[in-house]
Amino acid sequence: QIEAELFQARQLEQEASRAKTLFLSNMSHELRTPLNAVIGFVQLLEGEQAGPLTPKQREYLGYIHDGGTHLLSLVNEVLDLSKIEAGRLDLSIEAVGVHAAMELAHNSLVSLAEKARVVLILRPANGLPDVGVDRLRLHQCLMNLISNAIKYNRPGGTVTLDARRTPDDRIEIAVADTGRGIPTERQRELFQPFQRLGAEHTAIEGTGLGLALTRYLVEAMGGKIGFSSRPGVGSRFWIDFPVLAAVSHPVATV
Ligand code: ADP
Repeated sequence: QIEAELFQARQLEQEASRAKTLFLSNMSHELRTPLNAVIGFVQLLEGEQAGPLTPKQREYLGYIHDGGTHLLSLVNEVLDLSKIEAGRLDLSIEAVGVHAAMELAHNSLVSLAEKARVVLILRPANGLPDVGVDRLRLHQCLMNLISNAIKYNRPGGTVTLDARRTPDDRIEIAVADTGRGIPTERQRELFQPFQRLGAEHTAIEGTGLGLALTRYLVEAMGGKIGFSSRPGVGSRFWIDFPVLAAVSHPVATV
């Protein structure tokens, strides 16, 4: 009798979870189109395609732009999470050069770093073998880690991107910052969805979904993720993937 009731409860729970996932994924999908329209037209206005702007108009458009972009990233992340929960995340795995991937993420975030007065340093990682990952998803992971390292830094701080081949034949990409660090007692919560560890009380924008998604994506691509952090000194996040031996670039020898 008790077992039958437990079974029924579990089935109801699974159904509810499926309904929630479907709802989230439909909603996020439907929200994206109008949001992209909002952002697109704000960009046109900001480019003064519809006539010159007063400083106040430019300022207000900036707020709409920031708000819209924030909402879009939230929607995209919720959509990703719901796909993951439903087991519907498709990965397209290919050989990806680590240095090029790091350079792309670096270049995409230089202006964010400049605004935060943080120096973004890219250590050369040429000559390392490729890794077998989904190119866009790796980019998403790097963008999450690097933008965190910038956001939770301090003016005059640095963010260093580095890659190396580990003794157990994996390629490790690391993002080290000189930021606030993560309070030791809260480090266990770091990868939980919607967990912002106090950042919700600051002006720093975020969804609390970045690291949860990054961890899932890295693991789904056969990788590992980890970090070390000293409160008040800085943090170092790393991800690593097995070497793709067959397509390694030869290292030039002199
Ligand atoms: P968010 O959208 O809030 O940045 P994340 O999932 O990316 O969400 O990170 C969760 C929380 O972990 C952040 O709100 C922040 O408090 C903390 N955090 C993440 N990366 C760093 C970092 N490099 N330095 C200090 N704190 C960090």
